[in-house]
Amino acid sequence: MNERIPVGVLGATGMVGQEFVSFLRDHPWFDLTWLGASDRSAGKRYREATTWRLGGAIPAYVADIVVSECKPGDGVPKLLFSAMDAGVATDIERAMAGAGHTVVSNSRNHRMEDDVPLLVPEINPDHLRLVREQRRKRGWSGQIVTNPNCSTIVMVMALAPLKQFGIRKIIVTTMQAISGAGYPGVASMDINANVIPYIGMEEEKMQSETQKILGDFATTKIQPLAAAVSASCNRVPVVDGHTMAVSVELEKKATEAEILGAILGFRGIPQQKGLPSAPPCPVIYMEEPDRPQPRRDVERENGMAVFVGRLRKCPVLDYKFIAMGHNTVRGAAGAAVLNAELMQAEGLL
Ligand code: NAP
Repeated sequence: MNERIPVGVLGATGMVGQEFVSFLRDHPWFDLTWLGASDRSAGKRYREATTWRLGGAIPAYVADIVVSECKPGDGVPKLLFSAMDAGVATDIERAMAGAGHTVVSNSRNHRMEDDVPLLVPEINPDHLRLVREQRRKRGWSGQIVTNPNCSTIVMVMALAPLKQFGIRKIIVTTMQAISGAGYPGVASMDINANVIPYIGMEEEKMQSETQKILGDFATTKIQPLAAAVSASCNRVPVVDGHTMAVSVELEKKATEAEILGAILGFRGIPQQKGLPSAPPCPVIYMEEPDRPQPRRDVERENGMAVFVGRLRKCPVLDYKFIAMGHNTVRGAAGAAVLNAELMQAEGLL
């Protein structure tokens, strides 16, 4: 590309907004030029409006940008990443799409709407065809595309290679990092040396989002995967990286070697097209019996790959394994940026 595409972030001052700012630094295709937040922040320079909570200093390339209100208008770039508070994202994202913007959203608000792609570029790039129906039905000149919840994406990346064997049942128990709760997140008195066996709405999201992502595009809508999904979600004292124990029942009886071969050979369009944020190998199998571990593995591959280990027979379903991925990178900002890269590569921006 000769010129980088100007982009903005809605909700740039929050935790996920900061992840976008960090992830987009030096991006070869996208140039972050516009930052939006609430009217509490609008009019201030970014360094005054936000308390930088990621490692290192606030990136110099954005520090002096004056934060805007999240309203359509002059100077708002056509491509917007959204990291807004879920309480306000529905109306603002719709207003931006109606005004001709492409909103690549990380918020949960539109994920399960029939005409909105819940996109994982390695798994369901064809779901992008929903945007044609979305524009027709809603009369928008813009569009909304979403990425999954941070625990769902780790599991679906690990399960996608097995879709060829027919997935019938999934049982998953998660061990989720505290960064997934945003800032200030879970009180230290609750999470230190403890496990909290409840994360509001997380189990429902894992169940419904998995069926949509692994479903098939049929003419104008998604036929969800007809698999039963049972999720138990837990918060554990880990900073970054969601780990999960997954059991799966398959329609075709596959050998362990066939399952492993499918995982090792799994690649998608982002790898074929060499998209800038695509990890060369999206699902990495670890042979060591005590891996993956969030503290040791979460930062590998820029946080964009999912790590799988301990594949073995399950005496209740067919197979079980451990999966782990970076919840604020592959589970948030990195996922959205990869979605936008795919859209650019497909001529949809
Ligand atoms: P957060 O830290 O509370 O940030 C919320 C952002 O929304 C801030 O930039 C805030 O701006 C902005 N905002 C609030 N009210 C607004 C309004 N009326 N108009 C425009 N902007 C407004 O939240 P977060 O943890 O980053 O999460 C952001 C979104 O990502 C949520 O929808 C969340 O569910 C989703 N998500 C989070 C994670 C995670 O790991 N935390 C992972 C996946 C998805 P001000 O600073 O001006 O208030």
